[in-house]
Amino acid sequence: MPNNPFNVIFSKNGLLLIIGIFCTAVIFAAINFSSPIRPSHNVVQDVEHLIDIKKQFSISNILNSSDNIWQQQDLTSLGISNELHWFRFTLKDIDPTKTWLLEIDNAMLDKINLWFVQNNRVIAEYKVGDALIFSQRTVEHENFLFPVPTNGLPVEVFVSTYSQGTMGLPLYIWQQQDYLEFTTKIGLITGGFFGLMLAMGLSNLFFFITTRSPIFLVYAGYVIFLALTLSALQGLGYRYIWPNSPWFQQHAIGIFAPLTVWLSIMFCDLLLNVRAYNTRLSKLLNFTAYAFLIGLVISLFIPLQVFLKPFLLMLCAGSIFILAVSIWLWVKGLAIAQYYTFAWAAFFISGFAVSLDSLNIINLNLPSFYLLMLGAGIETLLLALILAISHNQQRQTLLDTQAELLNKERHAQHAQKGMLALQQNATEDLEYKVQERTLELEIALRELSETNRELQEKNTLDALTGIRNRSYFDKKYQAEVRRSRREQTQLSVVMMDIDHFKRVNDKYGHLVGDECIKSVANTLKKALKRPSDDVCRYGGEEFALILPSTDLEGAMVLVEQLRANIEKTSIQAEDVSVSITISAGIGTAIADLNQPEDIILALADKQLYLAKNAGRNNVQGSQLDLIQQQDQS
Ligand code: GH3
Ligand code: MG
Ligand code: MG
Repeated sequence: MPNNPFNVIFSKNGLLLIIGIFCTAVIFAAINFSSPIRPSHNVVQDVEHLIDIKKQFSISNILNSSDNIWQQQDLTSLGISNELHWFRFTLKDIDPTKTWLLEIDNAMLDKINLWFVQNNRVIAEYKVGDALIFSQRTVEHENFLFPVPTNGLPVEVFVSTYSQGTMGLPLYIWQQQDYLEFTTKIGLITGGFFGLMLAMGLSNLFFFITTRSPIFLVYAGYVIFLALTLSALQGLGYRYIWPNSPWFQQHAIGIFAPLTVWLSIMFCDLLLNVRAYNTRLSKLLNFTAYAFLIGLVISLFIPLQVFLKPFLLMLCAGSIFILAVSIWLWVKGLAIAQYYTFAWAAFFISGFAVSLDSLNIINLNLPSFYLLMLGAGIETLLLALILAISHNQQRQTLLDTQAELLNKERHAQHAQKGMLALQQNATEDLEYKVQERTLELEIALRELSETNRELQEKNTLDALTGIRNRSYFDKKYQAEVRRSRREQTQLSVVMMDIDHFKRVNDKYGHLVGDECIKSVANTLKKALKRPSDDVCRYGGEEFALILPSTDLEGAMVLVEQLRANIEKTSIQAEDVSVSITISAGIGTAIADLNQPEDIILALADKQLYLAKNAGRNNVQGSQLDLIQQQDQS
């Protein structure tokens, strides 16, 4: 989607980073130019110090003690210590026409007792510190402020302090009006800073709600806890958020700082996706992160000064670890790691410097709080930018993947359509071929059955005479016997034999004999009128007639005619004229289930035998009646 203006901007990550760096530079410049550094002439000079190890001193015995228990001391930082410290100094040249304030610029001090003394006599006494609830302060301000008694004479000031945190005692003497201007400036800068943090925190919380991407929640939490840590350090948290809980004020750092570090490590793991590069490293990061959470729990039960030293050491180690991981991934070619390194380095340098300052290893000229704010501000902005870039990259990757998937799906659909078309074509083709083959097969089958029928027809015909043959007769006879039995009709069967045929053969030869057989067959065929009647050549010069539904009488008439016909017909063959006669036997019966099927045929054959015996050229017939049938059986 190159037309989307947001993509054009986000695709130029480098440009965006430059804008980010430019913005932070502007913030840096703004803080620097209006930096509310306390004027050096306001610093209280010549402070003497003693450590009351046994906690034996009170203001009265301090006032009566000799001067040699005191030592000169630089007060900006005394490191972390939980001893009772005493300080003594004198305020001179106080213009009595103006109102003066004494400021202790360390919001973390637990207990402060302060006495203004003139002529070895206490003229004013204050008890403050963040171990007391906020509203008990003389002047309600995040730093400790004391109104200086002014009567034109120098005032001696005694301070005893006790703290579980860093034990610096930066002391300043202010004209009230100057301090008002100074704090207004601070208010503007710190207000701007915390406003920025709140805005980043909330906006990322909303991003989390809309995108459901946990990294936004982690970042929002990180920014908010970082802001809370800094607000606790500066006393603003106590002033505005938890003014009635000195206990919480004592533990605020111990709670918020580990939470901040925990979330920042989780953020690093998520943003740089360390798991994808090295699972063990990712596990180690998580382990380190949870170590800080354990630190949080421990901090609830131990004094702050015991917690603070190991915590700061852990913080330094953890910061270096994150920096190393980030640089390693940068070297591996992860672009986002490069930006992350810059961001982390900004905060790391400021945090490292402040840690060293707190541990009294180095001494910073800048108020450490501003340095921290600057580092945190730059880092927060850069990280937000990186997060936006990373999120956009992921979104773009997702969109690309989606587009690719869509494309693949489209291809697949296209291919599927092609396949379907092919399949359809193939099916149609196949169907056509099957139809074609079926048709061919049907034709072939029809032809075959035709041939078969012809063949069967031929098989039933006698080659010489063209009438039905013996095998046809056998089937026909069987069928007609059954019909007769079923329908209880008379069936007549005739057996015929040419008389003295041997002689014909002998006299005229076989060819003439054949012609005679053909002639008889022809005569018999022509004589039969009913379609159910059939004549067959039974053997050499023997013929058989089947006459269904014909009684003996009818059969006798028909066969007698046939006999007479043949007798008077002279057969012309091979220039000779031959006369022949036939003898015939008729068997008639209604077929019965209890009889053998061939009984009628046997009867006809018997009658033929009788006809031959009776002198030939005659017809004999017999009806097989019931009684006879029973006798037969
Ligand atoms: P009969 O009156 O007792 O029947 O005397 P016949 O000579 O006809 O005696 P028979 O029936 O025993 O002899 C049949 C003869 O018919 C035998 C054979 O030479 C002759 N014959 C059988 N089939 C054919 C044929 O297909 N063609 C010719 N030419 N002669 C045949
Ligand atoms: Mg014969
Ligand atoms: Mg014969």
